Amino acid sequence: MAVERIWLDVPFAEKDEAKAAGARWDPTVRRWYAPRPGVAALERWAAGADIPELLPGEDRSLGSGLFVDLVPSSCWFTNVRSCVVQKDWDRLRRMIYARAQDRCEACGVGQDREAKRWLEAHERWTYDSTRRIQTLKRLICLCTDCHTVTHFGFANIRGLAPQARAHLIKVTGMTPSQADQHIAKAFEVWKTRSRITWKLDLSILTNAGVTLAPPPDAAARADVAHETLRAEAAGVPRQLGSGSRTGTGRGQ
Ligand SMILES: [Zn+2]
Repeated sequence: MAVERIWLDVPFAEKDEAKAAGARWDPTVRRWYAPRPGVAALERWAAGADIPELLPGEDRSLGSGLFVDLVPSSCWFTNVRSCVVQKDWDRLRRMIYARAQDRCEACGVGQDREAKRWLEAHERWTYDSTRRIQTLKRLICLCTDCHTVTHFGFANIRGLAPQARAHLIKVTGMTPSQADQHIAKAFEVWKTRSRITWKLDLSILTNAGVTLAPPPDAAARADVAHETLRAEAAGVPRQLGSGSRTGTGRGQ
């Protein structure tokens, strides 16, 4: 009879320590485990309960398909990974990838190590501009290529705008001019939203028992917003198209 495995949540930075303490690696599910119950040295990494497949209050129909989706520069939140404690990030991403059957929820592809295409978690938000509340409503599994399209401003900074535009066209079937209009519109919305300092509602995470990492203090958040807007103002072109610059900004 097989001995019961105990799954562990080991942050990458602690993998050597865990290995030395007796943890083993399962390459199929890409996860550490204790080979038997009761290994005291491994208890600190014991996995928490699995996160439910639907987060409380999550709307998995929100924002289907691929589109440019820029996070306001006035928002300090850059990604869910930096916003939750490491152990909970591991639990969360495991759930997000598993429920998507390890496929990109926008274009359907899986991970491809050789193509350097990975699966990544992306956040979908709703915005209540009257109450100035930005609410996390959905976590979606995207491949690297789709995620790059989504954060088009960041793609632009990295010189990836032409590839991102081509991927947008390929996945959505937009014509090149429709794609350019779509990108321009996304930046207009981004500029309007960036004028507001949003209060974040992350209750779909906290209600699922996820512990948030401490956010930067108010002054640091203001600095992020200021720097991002300055970069944006420095380099926004009027003409869009392959190879042209379409804006800059952190968190896009
Ligand atoms: Zn994709």
